[in-house]
Amino acid sequence: MYLQIEQISKNFGSLVALDNVNVEVEQREFVCLLGPSGCGKTTLLRIVSGLVESDQGRIMLDGRDIRPVPATQRGFGIVFQSYSLFPNMTVAENVGYGLRIRKHSRDRIRARVAELLETVGLPDSGGKYPHQISGGQQQRVALARAIAIDPRLLLLDEPLSALDAKVRLSLRDEVRSLQRRLGIPTLMVTHDQEEAMTMADRVVCMNEGRVEQFGTPEELYTRPATPFVATFLGRMNVLEFPDGARLAGRPLRIGEPDREASPGIRAYVRPEHIELRDAEAPTGENQFPASIGDLQFEGNITRYRVDVEEHTLQVEALGYPTRKPGEPVTVRIPPEAVRIFD
Ligand code: ATP
Repeated sequence: MYLQIEQISKNFGSLVALDNVNVEVEQREFVCLLGPSGCGKTTLLRIVSGLVESDQGRIMLDGRDIRPVPATQRGFGIVFQSYSLFPNMTVAENVGYGLRIRKHSRDRIRARVAELLETVGLPDSGGKYPHQISGGQQQRVALARAIAIDPRLLLLDEPLSALDAKVRLSLRDEVRSLQRRLGIPTLMVTHDQEEAMTMADRVVCMNEGRVEQFGTPEELYTRPATPFVATFLGRMNVLEFPDGARLAGRPLRIGEPDREASPGIRAYVRPEHIELRDAEAPTGENQFPASIGDLQFEGNITRYRVDVEEHTLQVEALGYPTRKPGEPVTVRIPPEAVRIFD
């Protein structure tokens, strides 16, 4: 393992910002730290960068503990949310900054800067100042500056979140493909789940200073380890059953073997796993009489709010709406799509 974040804890006074956090990043891997505001992801990134000291734990890079190494000597490339370029330097001077500090020759710097500006799609902007280019272009320059020094690790702190939606989407793909091409091990902080899911090889889902789950985007989405992950990623129906799992007077069978739906359980089902059928359909296992409460057409899918006696379900179906509000329907909940947690 290339980077090993081991048992890191950090308190600010009585506030526990990080509680025994373990994360690893392999060579060439892109790992995202994802979680709600205040969960500790920025603090963890700062500890890795050397800007903040942890109270406990180790940060191992290539087998060596880097905690004694000052931030400036770790050889990491860092990109922050915004406004991190030097305003009084041209784009080319910004990109070449780390190389000048490392005393590379002027010719070498000129060639490398030209190559990097080409790489981030700004071959003609070297002579401009940061205020003369757009926010998205500034972040490309920041990225070029960060990778100029051939960093041992790339640290990205919400690098896309200040940009408008369209630029964010295109830059997301660019950052990802650049990282793949160069193979720089990368740790990125984001609170945007879609960003994490689409960019990362593995995602660290954090909550209140702890790691809830660390795995591939598919693992987190299809096999959430905790109720927090289940509801934080994507949409989820949470059904509360104080008196055992029954809907509209009929039992709800749960697909996990050896799991009895005991009183007080909560069942978790994704909206795309629930089927809507005509009300006349025979009422077999896990089929329940229901009615359409409301619907929202989003172009490629339709979202329905479906009432099943006292419960309300979100159901997602592909394509144009085929049901109307008030229409009686049958919902089918496949047993294998139902998750419960201890
Ligand atoms: P956001 O997405 O809002 O930046 P985050 O997940 O990055 O959130 P952190 O910035 O790491 O969260 O903060 C974790 C907790 O530690 C928060 O409650 C924050 O208020 C607190 N905190 C962070 N830095 C300090 C500090 N220097 N002094 C005191 N408390 C701090």
